Amino acid sequence: MSDLDHLLASPQTPADFPLPQPVRHALFSLQDAGFKACLVGGCIRDLLLNGQPLDWDIATDATPDEMKAVFGQERLHGSCESLGSMILSEDDTEMEITTFRREGDYADARHPSHVTFTKNLEEDLKRRDFTVNALAWSPGAPVTDLFGGLQDLKNGLIRTVGDPAVRFEEDALRLLRALRFSSRLGFDIEKATADALHAKKAGIALLSRERAFHEITGILLGKDLLKVGLDFADLLFEALPELEPMKGCPQECIYHSWDVWEHSLRTAALCPPEPLLRWAGLLHDIGKPACRTRDENGTDHFYGHPVKGAALADKLCLSLGMNAEWRKEIHMLVLRHDETFSPEDMLVLLSQIGPESARGLIRLHMADQGAHAPFIARQADRGMELLGEIDRLESSGACWRLDQLAVNGRDMQAIGLSGPAVGETLNHLLQAVIRFHVPNDHDLLLQAAKAHFESTVTAFISKPAKETGRKESSPRD
Ligand code: ATP
Ligand code: MG
Repeated sequence: MSDLDHLLASPQTPADFPLPQPVRHALFSLQDAGFKACLVGGCIRDLLLNGQPLDWDIATDATPDEMKAVFGQERLHGSCESLGSMILSEDDTEMEITTFRREGDYADARHPSHVTFTKNLEEDLKRRDFTVNALAWSPGAPVTDLFGGLQDLKNGLIRTVGDPAVRFEEDALRLLRALRFSSRLGFDIEKATADALHAKKAGIALLSRERAFHEITGILLGKDLLKVGLDFADLLFEALPELEPMKGCPQECIYHSWDVWEHSLRTAALCPPEPLLRWAGLLHDIGKPACRTRDENGTDHFYGHPVKGAALADKLCLSLGMNAEWRKEIHMLVLRHDETFSPEDMLVLLSQIGPESARGLIRLHMADQGAHAPFIARQADRGMELLGEIDRLESSGACWRLDQLAVNGRDMQAIGLSGPAVGETLNHLLQAVIRFHVPNDHDLLLQAAKAHFESTVTAFISKPAKETGRKESSPRD
């Protein structure tokens, strides 16, 4: 019998979960000092689902000042002290300890106008978003489950605590949190909660783009991204209106089975679960709606969509507050997603974007292919050969960068080159190694450098005077 079945069968039995020592210690320190203290929210949910919480939240009736008296001021730092939250770090384990609280009216569909500390755990649980996030427990006690969270965990359901419409009106972030938990946990959204999500979606526009970015990244990383993206596209478009033209944008041709939106969701879902690649998967065809033409046979074409898409994706990434490194990478991935590669191209690709980005681009290719019509999708595995070639080039000491070349600037000076000729010749040699498979051998490259230098000088001397920049002596001079 699973922990969950056991708890549902006998809810009053004390439960037991393995806890890291610092968490156990923090709970007992508060309890020994006479306070109530329990684990609450996501960590209980995750302990029951897979035993691996991402973070530890402790709820207590101690106020921040009382927490300082228990743990010592220097071991706590405020996360939102006025809201009752302090962070305690011990041996690599970080815990957020929050005073039980009641929230006042919500001023701006995001923040309560005020919070009141309370001694009552039940009141604290009532303010929490979803039933599966409103479970509390401390060692030796039964799980506190006031809203049927254990049953919803068992059934795989996201359901709000209380009236969903009211809860989403209070705090619009909960709209995207619902989608994030559904995607991550693979849970369905209970009918009344789902109806309220659609009805109250306008609140999403009130969220900051950075906040939306964080939540949508979580949705993209989840296992049910495709289902959530199809069922709740309208909510995602509230957050990212730039994506809306993708929905319903047809791809009438033998290569595709879905519209641009579903194809993009499927591509993102087939990318490895890394935030940057999932975003690139979602955005890779964002340029298609603007580039679509239909020919006389009824076939759709999207000429120029990678260039258009790279510009649109970059604008979107900028507005989401992504850092410059991510923006550059996503721009490159969208721009190059439609190129075709063979193993022979991998060295040139490495010289252009380096191994990590090259792997990302090939992974995106594979995901994109996998999201095409079945006869293309079956070929997606061919990308493994390209990834294998990148591994082989890396481990065999292949050369694709100047610092890997068997000659350097000092070698060039030793054969009489100076100034810009040094860099120009080294680059010439590098291209010879990458593109023409000249062996990366010191003596051979030195010979090639001399030959290149001599031919450059000869070409310079034998060029017509006008081209070389030498002045023709005029009869009038
Ligand atoms: P994650 O694994 O993503 O951290 P979590 O459930 O721990 O999931 P947190 O954002 O860490 O989520 O929040 C901790 C708990 O605080 C939640 O489980 C929930 O009980 C409560 N909570 C967080 N944000 C909200 C909100 N906007 N409205 C109501 N309750 C919230
Ligand atoms: Mg958490």
